[in-house]
Amino acid sequence: AKVAGRSQTSFFNPSMTRELVRRREIEDELRLAIMRDELSIFFQPIVDLGTGKIRSFEALVRWFHPEKGELRPDEFIPVAEETGVIVTLGNWITAQAARACAQWPEDVSVAVNLSPLQIRAPGAALGILNALREAKLDPRRLELEVTETLFVDDTHATAAFIEELSDRGVRFALDDFGTGYSSLGYINSFPFSKIKVDRSFVSGPNVGKKSDAIIRAVAEMGTTLGMEIVAEGIETIEQVRAVREAGCTLGQGYYFSRAVPDYLAAMLLAQERDD
Ligand code: C2E
Ligand code: CA
Ligand code: CA
Ligand code: CA
Repeated sequence: AKVAGRSQTSFFNPSMTRELVRRREIEDELRLAIMRDELSIFFQPIVDLGTGKIRSFEALVRWFHPEKGELRPDEFIPVAEETGVIVTLGNWITAQAARACAQWPEDVSVAVNLSPLQIRAPGAALGILNALREAKLDPRRLELEVTETLFVDDTHATAAFIEELSDRGVRFALDDFGTGYSSLGYINSFPFSKIKVDRSFVSGPNVGKKSDAIIRAVAEMGTTLGMEIVAEGIETIEQVRAVREAGCTLGQGYYFSRAVPDYLAAMLLAQERDD
């Protein structure tokens, strides 16, 4: 009976089915979530490690589901990508982020994460330019965060998208640096203004002499090429010192602040201008 039970699990794995059902539910509900006003954008400060001032905020989407509670983007962004809902969702996120940024002082910008599928959708660049125009936001205040997965296939569409927007002043940051494929080729071919060193190099169990040397090397290369280096996932003052010492000019992480609603982001900015 034991053996039979085991072989059965390879055909019918209850936890796998639960996962599928959950995905299916998320897919259906995601389409309605925007209309039902269940989604919101939170903002996490990116801080100048020299002056301690906020230079920008990263827009991070949150879904407050009436039954499931708060869903993390890692749970629904992949579903949104697989189903194509990400295009609508992404345009909505960019519009919200641009609107919030337009309320901030002019030297503070906003960073928005882009999925590869969003870029390949027809009229992708136009969607972003429309969001900027509607919010009356200077394109130079928008930074798009992309990861190396963007370049895996269809580099032609990607190149056209990046060129069209960077011609108008939109900036690009290479996100999660160090977790994907070799990215030096992309850095050479595309006009990134920032490299975001993945948080696995900054905090957590794998941080040590090796990760420190990697950050140092990335920072030296990036600085030479005129890019700024952001350390993600900073949780302690020791990590602030370590990444600053390694050559990072910007930092982001729970040590400074979690992602907060737009009114709190505005308060953080007002507070630091009073000091
Ligand atoms: P990401 O772009 O690498 O975003 C940073 C993630 O690290 C965020 O998680 C943030 O809350 C978390 N984080 C920030 N500081 C710390 C820290 O000090 N320690 C730790 N342990 N974590 C920290 P979040 O908001 O759950 O987002 C997860 C991922 O979901 C993002 O990773 C991004 O890939 C994706 N995502 C989030 N919002 C959007 C969006 O609007 N559009 C798209 N396409 N993807 C998004
Ligand atoms: Ca990001
Ligand atoms: Ca990241
Ligand atoms: Ca990430």
